[in-house]
Amino acid sequence: MRKLETRTIVVASHNAGKIREIADLIGPFGFSAKSAAELNFIEPDETGTTFEENAAIKALASAKASGLPALSDDSGLVIDALDGAPGVYTANWAETADGTRDFTMAMQKVQDALTDKGATSADQRRARFVSVLCLAWPDGHTELFRGEVEGTIAWPPRGTEGFGYDPLFQPLGYDTTFGEMSGDEKHGWKPGDAEALSHRARAFKIFIETGLGG
Ligand code: IMP
Repeated sequence: MRKLETRTIVVASHNAGKIREIADLIGPFGFSAKSAAELNFIEPDETGTTFEENAAIKALASAKASGLPALSDDSGLVIDALDGAPGVYTANWAETADGTRDFTMAMQKVQDALTDKGATSADQRRARFVSVLCLAWPDGHTELFRGEVEGTIAWPPRGTEGFGYDPLFQPLGYDTTFGEMSGDEKHGWKPGDAEALSHRARAFKIFIETGLGG
């Protein structure tokens, strides 16, 4: 595993919710984040068919454009009853005709697809959030870290915290959705903790433990 020598990381994302969560997670380690959005980098097309491929595409684009190490997150919701959909297409399910994203609509699409399958019980509505972080260097070297959290798809959506599909996702063992949790509760992790909760915090914990020796 290649070590990070710089204290500034480019967060290869244009998604405000992700950028905030990654900045929260790296902050305690003395890293500061500059986002691809702030740097006006173009968003590359996510042409991969796996979270790993798309994470690498995004991180490499930002690392090459900035000359600095870049960290990306490719993530999504994988629903068993939908054969893994929306998966790597989770963001696409929220796209509207005018190119914006509408998560109320996207959550309704998920519910409609589950209703079509007759999936009503918590068991039939099993899902996981997946996050793959990629750290890439300008010379093309990459390292990947994967985190997953199991849960069920709640309906109706609950909570106004977080972003994206958070109001729909209830992690196993919890009565609340991610949309009802503060950022700290959703990460469920701070430096030194043995366990993390969210997919992104779980991937980040591996990144810290293997990548930075933190
Ligand atoms: P990506 O930019 O291709 O990685 O898209 C990820 C999609 O999954 C976006 O639509 C996000 O809103 C959604 N997503 C990923 N992580 C989370 C999360 O932690 N909470 C809610 N939605 C998420």
